Amino acid sequence: MELEPVIGFEVHTELKTNTKVWCGCPTTFGAPVNTQTCPVCLGMPGSLPVLNERAFDISLQVATALNCEIPPETDFDRKNYYYPDLPKNYQISQQYRPLGREGWLDIDLGEKGTKRIGIDNIHLEEDAGKNIHPDGATHVDYSLIDLNRAGTPLLEIVSKPEIRTKPEAEAYMKGMKALLEYLDASDCKMEEGRLRFELNISLRPKGGTELGQKVEIKNLNSISVVMKCIDHEIERQTEVLEEGGIVEGETRLWDEVKQVTRSMRKKETSFDYRYFPDPDLVTMTVSEERKRNIANSLPELPLAKRARFVEQYGIPDYDAGVLTASLQMAEYFEAAILAHNNAKALSNWMMTEMIRRLNEMGEDASAADFPVRPQALAELVRLIDDNTITGKIAKKVYPLMVETGKMPAVIVEEQGLKPIDDSAMEPIVQKVLDENPKMVEDIKAGKMKAIGGLMGQVMRATGGKANPQTVQSLIKKLCGVE
Ligand SMILES: [Zn+2]
Repeated sequence: MELEPVIGFEVHTELKTNTKVWCGCPTTFGAPVNTQTCPVCLGMPGSLPVLNERAFDISLQVATALNCEIPPETDFDRKNYYYPDLPKNYQISQQYRPLGREGWLDIDLGEKGTKRIGIDNIHLEEDAGKNIHPDGATHVDYSLIDLNRAGTPLLEIVSKPEIRTKPEAEAYMKGMKALLEYLDASDCKMEEGRLRFELNISLRPKGGTELGQKVEIKNLNSISVVMKCIDHEIERQTEVLEEGGIVEGETRLWDEVKQVTRSMRKKETSFDYRYFPDPDLVTMTVSEERKRNIANSLPELPLAKRARFVEQYGIPDYDAGVLTASLQMAEYFEAAILAHNNAKALSNWMMTEMIRRLNEMGEDASAADFPVRPQALAELVRLIDDNTITGKIAKKVYPLMVETGKMPAVIVEEQGLKPIDDSAMEPIVQKVLDENPKMVEDIKAGKMKAIGGLMGQVMRATGGKANPQTVQSLIKKLCGVE
C-alpha cells in the first residue's frame, strides 16, 4: 500500500516590538541574564498584565496578510502548565477566540505553480524564559533560569494539515518566513530562536481522506532540520505501519547527534491544560474601520513584488521569484538597479555568485549583511558594460570584493587588472605570431580555426587583460587576412 504524508505546521515567531507583551521590559536579545525583568514577567503575585498595543497591531497585520477572518472580539486565555521557565505557572494565550481564523498562504512550487495552504488560526501569546545548563556541566542536577525572554510577544500561526510533500513543506516555511520579513513583523533570526517551527506529520493511504495519528516535533529552528525530520518520520512511521503497528500520538524532539527524532512525551490534549479566560485582561474589539486601515497599510507582499519585477525590469519569472524570496534580496536588487540600470546582468550576478555565498553563510545570512554592497555590484557591471574590464576579469574581481568589501574600481587598480591599452597590444600579438609560424601559415592558408589557438596564447600572455575583439582583429591584420 502506498502511503502519503499529511503535514501541518505551527509557526512560532517572536514579534519585533521594543517591549514585552504584558509589561514594559525591553526585548533586546543577548542582554545579561535576568536584567530585563519586572514583577509582571517574573510572575509576582498581584502584578497585572497590560496588552502591548503594538504587538496586537502587528498580529492583526499578519492575520490580514494571511487572508484570515478577524472576529470583532478576541480575548486571552490561560494555558496552565508547570515548567521552571514559566514563572506564572500559566502562559497567556488565545484558545477560544483567537484573533485570526480561516486564512491561507499561497506557496510557490516553481514550475508546478502555486498551492493554497489553509491557516486554521493565528493567536498571540507570550514566550517563556530559558533554562540554562552551565557550559559542559552535563552531570549537574540543577538548571539556571534566565527570564529575559519571558513575556516576549509570540505569534503562533497554525496551518491546516494540507501539505503533502517535502517541497511543499519547504515552500511553506520559506513563504511564511518571507511574509513575516516583508511585514517587518519579526526579524526571523532562526538561530536566535526568533522563528521556530513545530511540525506535525502522519501517514495515510495515498489519496485517502481520513487523517492518521499525528506526531509532533517541537522546537525546530532550522528549515534544513525540519526537512530531515520529515524524512526520518516518514521512514519511521512507514516501518511501524508496515509491521502492523500503531503510530502513537506523541511529541518528539530532533536528536542532532543521532540524526533521528526521539520521543519526549505523550501528547497532552487541550483538556490537560485546563484553559480558561484570563480575568486580568479585557476582551479586545476590532472595528471594521481598524481592519480597513490595516488592510490599506500593508506593504507590497512577495507575490506582488515578484510580478512587478517581471513587469518593470523585464527579468524572467523564475529570477524574480528568487530575488523576491527575501525582502533584503529584493531591496538589494532595486538599490543596485538604481545605481546602474542593467537588470539582467545584476540579477545574474546575484543569482549565481551572491546566492551561493549567502547559502554557505547559513540560513540566517541576509543580503543586508553581504560584504558586497549593491552599489559595488552595480559598479562592477558598469565596468563590464563600458568595456573597462572583461567579464573574465570581473570574475576575478568579485571574490576580492567579497573578501575585502572594497569597490571594484579600487581592486582593478590595486591588482593591476586594468585591460592592456589597445595601442600596446600590437607588439604582444606580433610576438605570439613569431613564436607560432605554423599557425600563422594555417591562417594565411585560410584555416581560420587556428585563430582561436593564437587568441588563447595572447590571452595567457596578458593574464586575460586583453580585449578579445582587439586581439582577433590584430591577428587577422598581422596575418594579412582581413
Ligand atoms: Zn517585565
